[in-house]
Amino acid sequence: MTGTPAPFTADDYEARMRRAAEAAADAGLAGVLVAPGPDLVWLTGYRPVETERLTLLVLRAGEDPVLVVPTLEAPDAAKATGAPALTLRDWTDGKDPYEATASLLAPEGRFGVSDNAWALHLLGLQKRLPDSRHVALTEALPMLRAVKDAAELERLAAAGAAADATFEEIRRVPFVGRREADVAADIADLLRRFGHSQVDFTIVASGPNGANPHHEAEDRIIQRGDMVVLDFGGLKDGYGSDTSRTVHVGEPDDEERKVYDIVRAAQEAGFRAVRPGVACQDVDRAAREVITEAGYGEYFIHRTGHGIGVTTHEPPYMIEGEQQPLVPGMCFSVEPGIYLPGRFGVRIEDIVTVTEDGGRRLNTTSRELVIVD
Ligand code: ZN
Ligand code: ZN
Ligand code: ZN
Repeated sequence: MTGTPAPFTADDYEARMRRAAEAAADAGLAGVLVAPGPDLVWLTGYRPVETERLTLLVLRAGEDPVLVVPTLEAPDAAKATGAPALTLRDWTDGKDPYEATASLLAPEGRFGVSDNAWALHLLGLQKRLPDSRHVALTEALPMLRAVKDAAELERLAAAGAAADATFEEIRRVPFVGRREADVAADIADLLRRFGHSQVDFTIVASGPNGANPHHEAEDRIIQRGDMVVLDFGGLKDGYGSDTSRTVHVGEPDDEERKVYDIVRAAQEAGFRAVRPGVACQDVDRAAREVITEAGYGEYFIHRTGHGIGVTTHEPPYMIEGEQQPLVPGMCFSVEPGIYLPGRFGVRIEDIVTVTEDGGRRLNTTSRELVIVD
């Protein structure tokens, strides 16, 4: 495993904030309002607890970024790496933080608001600025975090390598006679051992449970003859991993092998469609076409992929109707699947980054059907 990456600097965060403010102005927004959560982490390096007390980053083109923050949390905010680029505007209990924020904002402006801002805070602000309008940040600026720089790609690659190391270990543990939840616990332990600070999901979906794409893990005892969908990921050094492999307990039958090979071909087709300028929906179409032509189209019941960065699910989405062209540095999953109700499911997922002339996989474990015991 690689060591800890060099931390992001105050300059990195300042550049991100400037870019966000400019992108907002280009999109006709008066500014961007960012509550605690992944956007705030990405923009400032500040990761406060989300509470009823208002903390809000205000970005406006041509103006210095302002962080509205409770007085009692101002010392922590001042320690954030991005703080040198911020003006802190603190408010004490008993004062109205929405009024303090409203005084920074154009009364009739249209603002992008981070997706995870609490309704409590947005409604409080809207009460003070009844003529302002608000739009979700991923709707207004869906590509704000989509193109990763070299330092971000390094982290995503390391997170992918840690997930791959987890798969290489988990394929060797016993499956037969153990509960899905036991294998899931092994996966979580391995992800942490390989450097993840946060485990977001550990799907172990055996036999008929595999037909539910987001089945997590439960008490079902894994049997010989089961297909088992494994899908796991989380955050390492602040960036995400997410990979799926489907394994079989003992020798598969002909249909299982056939369905597996179709999904594998679809995943390959989706990956091969990745190159700059291609629309996101074309990655979905390339993967889907393979499954549809093989007669299983109605059993591929989700989009082909999603972006990944400081979260494990974010734009860009590889989905019909998404015409956003791919740009070098984008990072997303290619994860087609076939789900046969009551029987079994197969999904194969790699994180892929767009290069100058194609795509590069950040997950490199075998895509052959792995037999486990
Ligand atoms: Zn089987
Ligand atoms: Zn996944
Ligand atoms: Zn995924």
